[in-house]
Amino acid sequence: CGIVGYTGFQDAYDIVINGLRRLEYRGYDSAGIVLEGENNAFDVEKTKGKVDDLVSISSQLKGYAKVGMGHTRWATHGVPSDRNSHPHLSNNGKIAIVHNGIIENYDTIKIMLTDKGFTFKSETDTEVLVNLVQYFMDINSETDFPTAVRYALNEVYGAYAITVMHEDYPGILVVGRLGSPLAIGIGDKEYFIASDASPFVEFTKEAIYLEEGHMATLSLEKGVDIRTIKDNSKIVPEIQELKL
Ligand code: GLU
Repeated sequence: CGIVGYTGFQDAYDIVINGLRRLEYRGYDSAGIVLEGENNAFDVEKTKGKVDDLVSISSQLKGYAKVGMGHTRWATHGVPSDRNSHPHLSNNGKIAIVHNGIIENYDTIKIMLTDKGFTFKSETDTEVLVNLVQYFMDINSETDFPTAVRYALNEVYGAYAITVMHEDYPGILVVGRLGSPLAIGIGDKEYFIASDASPFVEFTKEAIYLEEGHMATLSLEKGVDIRTIKDNSKIVPEIQELKL
């Protein structure tokens, strides 16, 4: 179980795949990747199996994207399968999520969303969360993407580290954490996300370890905006110097 994310100027495919390899030691049963492709549309590949299996079905994604994220899954809800692998997309196809951990109350939220007409392709708790984000944007057009993620996280309990992307918010990664680790690497005109610093230590020595109950919006234009999930209080990040 691991997460890697990237927004910057390098090939996001390479960064994500190499990063997932560095996190393989954590154990996993499936792997997947989503990149911002042409016209910011998502390109997704995912599979049961190893990072090598992912590479063998996704080499066409190499060399064009500057933004993306990847996941290695340790199945908790739903068997290891291509369909249950992450990333998961929202019903409107615009929001993508990778998630490590467990959403304890996913079943009641799934019933609520099903009542509203949402459908599900997987058995995962994760797919419920990404659709809850869509739901909050659907019911109020003033609700922007990071705010919708925050609203959704306030409805769930359990343990999670997540990274979320939205097609209409190109270049932006929204991350959050409760009970599972997540580190942000601060480069020069690039940001990295990972479950630990090993995927990005070769690119930058500056990291922020996201704290419990915090979320962050990473944007090359606006920088790193860290907030408490509960009440949206702004947090001044503590940047740490990574040692080799
Ligand atoms: N609960 C999620 C799932 O079963 C995430 C598992 C993980 O931590 O990789 O898909």
